[in-house]
Amino acid sequence: MTARPRPAAPDLSSVASDDAPAIVRAALDHFGRRITLSCSFGGAGGMVLLDLAVRHRAEVDVFVLDTDFLFPDTYKLIDRVESRYNIRVRRAKSHLTPDEQALQFGEALWSREPNRCCDLRKVQPMARAVENFDAWITAIRRDQASTRSGTDVLSFDESFGIWKVCPLAYWPESRVEAYVAEHDLPMNPLLFEGYTSIGCTHCTRKPTSDDPRSGRWVGLGKTECGLHMRPKT
Ligand code: SF4
Repeated sequence: MTARPRPAAPDLSSVASDDAPAIVRAALDHFGRRITLSCSFGGAGGMVLLDLAVRHRAEVDVFVLDTDFLFPDTYKLIDRVESRYNIRVRRAKSHLTPDEQALQFGEALWSREPNRCCDLRKVQPMARAVENFDAWITAIRRDQASTRSGTDVLSFDESFGIWKVCPLAYWPESRVEAYVAEHDLPMNPLLFEGYTSIGCTHCTRKPTSDDPRSGRWVGLGKTECGLHMRPKT
């Protein structure tokens, strides 16, 4: 990615670190059209942020990393959200179709080299999805995983060269659930079938422990896709 001057950061000094609505508003106001919202359509947090963002700016930019391997329920949810909010969700996809990936790297790359698969289908598409923006909003929270326990509300994301805004960093799961109930937000049906963290079909199982992300990349020694921390390759 070509280096460019670091954009100015929003001043969040008067905003409480757990005041997600105010953080979203401040970020949208500061960055204008140069901020985008990443939504996985898997968890509840993304739906909360999407709702907060659209309430403040109806035409906010939203994208999903469409790996081509999302669950049918996830694709259906994207359609439902587009209808409910009258928005168009950008699909950020790999340059390689699944067939092209299999030809180039072999069948079931996710089972042999999941970091390479995530790089091809998530990290590279993400870099392209945000290249014309100064900031991205993401729903990660401190209580989701030990790898996320140090999440800041605002940080400069060196990987993508833009600001990273995490309005839910200090929200516990109960607060997310309360917002969802209060606003009757559409949710991924898999969350009601026992899944607690939802990504690609190949790498998502029901949780194997109290860790809500324990169903991701089971047996592969991997806990993150590389968007929030770069795995060793
Ligand atoms: S989560 Fe699995 S299938 Fe999806 S991009 Fe990563 S390794 Fe590939």
